[in-house]
Amino acid sequence: KPVVAIVGRPNVGKSTIFNRVVGERISIVEDVPGVTRDRIYSSGEWLNQVFNIIDTGGIEVGDEPFLAQIRYQAEIAIDEADVIIFMTNSREGVTAADEEVAKLLFRSKKPVVLAVNKVDNPEMREAIYDFYSLGFGEPYPISGSHGLGLGDLLDAVIEHFPKKGNDDDDDDKIKFSLIGRPNVGKSSLVNALLGEERVIVSDIAGTTRDAIDTELKYNNKEYVIIDTAGMRKKGKVYETTEKYSVLRALKAIERSDVVLVVINAEEGIIEQDKKIAGYAHEAGRAVVIVVNKWDAVEKDEKTMKEFEQKIRDHFLFLDYAPIVFLSAITKKRIHTLIPMIELASENHSLRVETNVLNDVIMDAVAMNPAPTDKGKRLRIYYVTQVGVKPPTFVVFVNEPEIMHFSYERFLENRIRAAFGFEGTPIRLLTRARK
Ligand code: GDP
Repeated sequence: KPVVAIVGRPNVGKSTIFNRVVGERISIVEDVPGVTRDRIYSSGEWLNQVFNIIDTGGIEVGDEPFLAQIRYQAEIAIDEADVIIFMTNSREGVTAADEEVAKLLFRSKKPVVLAVNKVDNPEMREAIYDFYSLGFGEPYPISGSHGLGLGDLLDAVIEHFPKKGNDDDDDDKIKFSLIGRPNVGKSSLVNALLGEERVIVSDIAGTTRDAIDTELKYNNKEYVIIDTAGMRKKGKVYETTEKYSVLRALKAIERSDVVLVVINAEEGIIEQDKKIAGYAHEAGRAVVIVVNKWDAVEKDEKTMKEFEQKIRDHFLFLDYAPIVFLSAITKKRIHTLIPMIELASENHSLRVETNVLNDVIMDAVAMNPAPTDKGKRLRIYYVTQVGVKPPTFVVFVNEPEIMHFSYERFLENRIRAAFGFEGTPIRLLTRARK
C-alpha cells in the first residue's frame, strides 16, 4: 500500500485532516492491548485506492526546540512516505517555519501536494495565492473543520501513487519481520539468521527491488525479511522515539505474513511488548514469540517453563503463538527459527475441508449447546471458510445477536483442536443465513 504523510508546523490542522481521511477505520473493537492505535498511523481509502497515512505531528522528539521538531517530522515524512501532504494555514499565511519545511521537502524530490487549511468559505480563497511562493505548484484550499476541498486534495495525492508494476512476483515468498522495542536484539537475530549455514542470502543488487528487505532461501523455500535495513541502520535522532519505532513496526507488520515478536529474556515482558504483539494480532498476521538473550538468564530446569507461563499470562490473546527461546549471541536454537516461521506461515494460509469443518462444529454444538437469549436458542446451520491469511470462517446462524463472545471462543478452540492452526490467529464471523 502506498504511504502518505502529513507534515506541517503545529496547529495547521494536521490531525483534523488525518482523522477525516481515516474516518471510522481507526476505531478498533477487539479487546486486545495496544489496539487503540496511536493516532499517527492508519489506513484510508479514496476512489477505491487504499493507502496508509501518517500524521507526523504526532511524533515528538524529546524536548528539542520547535524548528528542530518540524525538521525531524519532515525527515520522517521523506523517509517513510510515497507522497507528502504539506499542510499550511491560510490564517497565518506563509511563515518562516513553512519555508523551512519547504526547503527540506524540495531537496528530497518526493512528490508533495500543498494544502492550505482553514479556507472555510469561498471568500477566503484569495489567501491561497501567497502559497505559490513555496514552490510546490497549485495550493489546494481545504477546510478541515468543514470538511471542504478534501476530495480535490486526495485526487492530487493518489495521482502521485507509484504505478502498479509486476509487484506480485514475491507472493509465494514467506515475508516476515522482527518486531520489538529497541535493544531486544532484532538486528543481532537477523545477522545470526543470515550467518546460518543452510541460509542462502540473495545477491541484493540483482534481486531485491526494495533495498530495505533481505531475501533468503532455506530448504529451497524463499523468504523475505521485511525492513532489515531499517533495523540495522541507527543514527537519526528520531529513531529512538517510541512513536517512531511503533510507526516502523506497524509498517513492517503490514507487509509481513509472519511477525516475530522479540522479547528480551533479561528484562522480561513490559507494556510495550504487549502493545506491539497486539498490533500483529489485530492485523491478522501469524505470530511467533521469540525470547532472545536466553544465554544471559540464570536458569535451572524450571526456568523455561516459568517464563513460558509468564508469557502465556501476559499474552492471553496470543495463545496460538509458539514460543522459541534462543540466543542471537551464542546461536543456541537459532536453527529452529526458520522452520517455526515456515510452520506458522503454512497454518496462516491453511484451508480446511468444509465437510470436516462442519463435523467438528456439529460435534462441538452437541457437546456444549449454543447460547440462548430471551428464550430463543442460537441455531448454527453451517460453517464455511471464506479466506486465509488469516484463516477466516463464517458461521451461518438463525440470529447473530444471540451469538456470545465466549461461545465464539469455544468454537474457535474446537476448530484449533481439530486442525491446529498453530501460529496463526483465526477469525470467526457470525452471519444470518439468508
Ligand atoms: P535491536 O535494537 O533490537 O536491533 O538490538 P541489537 O541487535 O542492536 O542488540 C542490542 C544489544 O543486545 C547488543 O549489545 C547485542 O550485543 C545484545 N544482544 C543481542 N542478542 C543477544 C543475545 O542473544 N544474548 C546476549 N547476551 N546479548 C545479546
